[in-house]
Amino acid sequence: MSPNKVLIVEDSRAFRNYLNSQLRAAGFEPVFAESIAQAKQLIVDNNTDASPFLCTVLDYCLPDGQDGEIIDLVLSYKLKVIVLTAQFSTEVREAVLSKGVIDYLLKDSPASVAYLIPLLQRLEANNYHKAMVVEDSSTVRHHLINLLERQNLQVIAANNGQEALEQLELHPDISLVITDHDMPEKDGITMIREIRQQHNRNQIAILGLSGSNDNAMTALYLKAGANDFLNKPFNQEEFYCRIHHMLNMKDTADKLYRMANQDALTGLWNRRYFFSQSDCGCNDCGQNRNIAMIDIDFFKRVNDTYGHDAGDEVLVQISKQLQAHCPDAVVARFGGEEFCIQSCASYQQFIKQLSQLRQDIEKLVITYQQSSIKVTISIGVTCGEKPLGELLKDADERLYRAKQGGRNRLVGL
Ligand code: GH3
Ligand code: MG
Ligand code: MG
Ligand code: MG
Repeated sequence: MSPNKVLIVEDSRAFRNYLNSQLRAAGFEPVFAESIAQAKQLIVDNNTDASPFLCTVLDYCLPDGQDGEIIDLVLSYKLKVIVLTAQFSTEVREAVLSKGVIDYLLKDSPASVAYLIPLLQRLEANNYHKAMVVEDSSTVRHHLINLLERQNLQVIAANNGQEALEQLELHPDISLVITDHDMPEKDGITMIREIRQQHNRNQIAILGLSGSNDNAMTALYLKAGANDFLNKPFNQEEFYCRIHHMLNMKDTADKLYRMANQDALTGLWNRRYFFSQSDCGCNDCGQNRNIAMIDIDFFKRVNDTYGHDAGDEVLVQISKQLQAHCPDAVVARFGGEEFCIQSCASYQQFIKQLSQLRQDIEKLVITYQQSSIKVTISIGVTCGEKPLGELLKDADERLYRAKQGGRNRLVGL
């Protein structure tokens, strides 16, 4: 699959050139056809791939079909379609949208073409989102599923609020919920209140829908914790605009969260995140926890001998080892060449993981350009029910003893 390939069918050479530069600058790979016949050939040639194009962008009026014939052809190959046109009457626009295209763009201004890139980026990013439709009417439910799947979203369905909460347990990666209000067993607003006890607006974005005439409905939804609200029946374009807006906000919030809590070089959690975690996040974590402080031995020599970039590569490789050996723990880079791990495994199990880690790093050869680099680590470990700060102090003291004792060793209880 080539997620970045976009098929453009457009007869104006100037417009093709313009789209080519815009799309390439945004990291997409445009493939061009000038006519329906050429487009058909390109699609057939690429058809060995299950989903050859992220999307297609089709000019409504082409030399061998002036009335949108290209749209039906491309849709018949189950490809996603964005229509590009110089002009649209209301009737043509309605007709085009009802065929099942994602969107249309008018070629009347650069601003409208500028809308294309974020739309393609949204379609690409949607591959990483799972949505849930909560609706008791099967007609509306299927319509919603269809609209969302057309946008590359993976969709789970639930018939009512109760079922939705159960689905959420089974699919904790759901990031978007579209819900009706009037439903048997549990209504939408009650369900949202329950979801919000555990997941905030940045973790799960919720769009409320209602066909009721009650003009307090919007406020009720928003106060219960919905991110946005839409009356039924709704306009497809408005629905997509709201979904895009919610997902863009969520992606931005996720990115900010990562920037604030992850180490940019190694991708490990940072010190700030580490202190925000009262435990490792698992359900059976009691008060008791294990803490390990780890420091790379003579790391300054690595920098002095092989250069700072090689040192960075060593930090990245060592971080991978830490994560691989302690998959259930919170692994953080505390600063420089110092790491901290919080685990709620049994103390014996944790010691076993760390001993294996120390031995594997001792054997590891890290290659950077022409250099083969070997390092060792020293580890201080503790466990108990004491406050985090005290456990860190204990672990640090043991790390100091490991260094004093000759490095490349673990000092525990
Ligand atoms: P010891 O065995 O006693 O821990 O010796 P050491 O050389 O590892 O300890 P020291 O604290 O003297 O040196 C740590 C070095 O880590 C110094 C610093 O330049 C380097 N360092 C800190 N952060 C980074 C980084 O992000 N990248 C690289 N390449 N080096 C870093
Ligand atoms: Mg209903
Ligand atoms: Mg060191
Ligand atoms: Mg150090």
